[in-house]
Amino acid sequence: MPPSQPLISRRHASQRAICLCLLALFALCSLHAGTALAADKLRLQLRWLHQFQFAGYYMALEKGYYRDAGLDVEILEGGPSALKPVDALLAGDSDFAISNSGMVIERMAGKPVVALAAIMQTSPIVWIVRADSGIRTPMDLAGKRLMLMPAPESAELLITLRREGIDINQLTIQPTSFNLQDLLDGKTDAYDGYISNEPYWLSQHGADYHLINPREYGVNFYNDVLYTREQLVEDKPAQVAAFVAASLKGWQYALAHQEETIRLIQQRYAPGKTLEHLRFEAEALHKLIMPELVQLGHMNPGRWEYIANSYVQLGMAPGPVDLQGFLYTEHVAQDYRMVYLGGVLALLVIVLVGAIALRFATLSRALQREVNRRQTTEQQLLTSNCTLERLANTDRLTGLWNRLKFEEVAHQEVSRAERYGYPLSLVFFDLDHFKDINDQHGHEVGDQVLCRLAQLVGGHLRESDSLCRWGGEEFLILMPHTDRQQAEQLAEKLRERVAKASLLVQQPISASFGIAQLVPGELLRDLVRNADAALYRAKQLGRNRVEA
Ligand code: GH3
Ligand code: MG
Ligand code: MG
Repeated sequence: MPPSQPLISRRHASQRAICLCLLALFALCSLHAGTALAADKLRLQLRWLHQFQFAGYYMALEKGYYRDAGLDVEILEGGPSALKPVDALLAGDSDFAISNSGMVIERMAGKPVVALAAIMQTSPIVWIVRADSGIRTPMDLAGKRLMLMPAPESAELLITLRREGIDINQLTIQPTSFNLQDLLDGKTDAYDGYISNEPYWLSQHGADYHLINPREYGVNFYNDVLYTREQLVEDKPAQVAAFVAASLKGWQYALAHQEETIRLIQQRYAPGKTLEHLRFEAEALHKLIMPELVQLGHMNPGRWEYIANSYVQLGMAPGPVDLQGFLYTEHVAQDYRMVYLGGVLALLVIVLVGAIALRFATLSRALQREVNRRQTTEQQLLTSNCTLERLANTDRLTGLWNRLKFEEVAHQEVSRAERYGYPLSLVFFDLDHFKDINDQHGHEVGDQVLCRLAQLVGGHLRESDSLCRWGGEEFLILMPHTDRQQAEQLAEKLRERVAKASLLVQQPISASFGIAQLVPGELLRDLVRNADAALYRAKQLGRNRVEA
């Protein structure tokens, strides 16, 4: 026998051994991965009928993202008769549910629900009114008939009403009929719907409508948040982590391949909807999900605190706010995976020392890529949070601070004035007979007048004064280091300027002003109430005047 032959066969034998080891290891890993995420059925309860609103979940299912993660997922359609999501989750009828941010109320009432990811960065819920109803603002809803789903579904709408000072008892609340024809037939004055859905039906029926959007009144909550129960996070952290990751991957796919997704939804889930309708819905939802601005599913703990605080302030939840355990963090599941990976790596070291070097090189490259990716994402998040904060604090029409931001600043100013003992005054002003301007020139011109007025007044204020749009055509100026007399002088100057200015329309426009100075021991709401009472007197005494 030539001497080289045993050498070759030894090499072949060792290669075979390596291959066998690799195969065994692969089988072991697959087995482990399979059992780690062993597939009991996981049920996802949708909050409404099949539509583009749930596109990401359908795509995660259809594209096999759930299956690849070892999950067997069933999607349950919602509807008017479905159980409350919190009840279904806690009773074990579903493992995941989509609901609005009102779920935090349930958490504060002691129900163990956990928020996993926020899909809509802002809420689609609006009131829809007929264009010929003359209703334009929440104030105009006073005394009217409104359709409303029970809280928390309707939370944003209720909060908007309360913020605008409307007494719910003055309204005729009707249960939602889910039939828009009722609005056209005059059976209700305001219909609660989704910006992404009902406007399409109305356009199709040639109906002229107007939307009242809580976001324009400083109420900007998360919506379509993915929830689960705390027990599932504790018992099956890997499954929960895998479900969230696969769902977000599904959303990424759905938003990047809108047309394909729309066609699939129509074919498999919502044959009753036209492609055109689904396209309308997709466009509207894209704007609420903001994938270009915010990482899909992102939740800002500060924003959740603000949402929870709003519920507490309005008496919808018991205080103080404690969100401990409500916001999902993945660390438990990550730890588990690290242990698993560690085990696999240890086996690799024992079986194939050579392969481990290669593995390390690949891993460190992937790790470096991951670090870079996270740094970029973090930077993007910082930028998007700034943008979101600006959106939440300013009034869209005039660019002035909105009521929410004003209240935040004014509370601090009141405490400061109280502590250091300097005078603080508030000017409350409202345009006279503004309805007539709208009636004669249209709402759009009315909007332009409000913008010009904001510029005019802003130009006459000091750096330390705060101007805000309180709502409609009512504005506030908070003036630190200013007593009532000085505030009156400034208001008189502003009154003259407004009366003389040509604010877009030919006819003269005037405003009435109410002044109040903070009395030691008073709260911000007393100051606002006193200024409002003075404004009321100015109106009563003939308008176009200043009262203190
Ligand atoms: P008065 O000064 O005496 O109180 O009469 P008014 O006609 O101004 O009545 P009021 O202040 O009660 O009503 C405000 C009107 O302003 C109602 C609505 O038509 C209009 N309005 C409120 N918000 C807006 C808005 O954002 N844009 C436009 N164009 N009009 C608005
Ligand atoms: Mg007015
Ligand atoms: Mg007014």
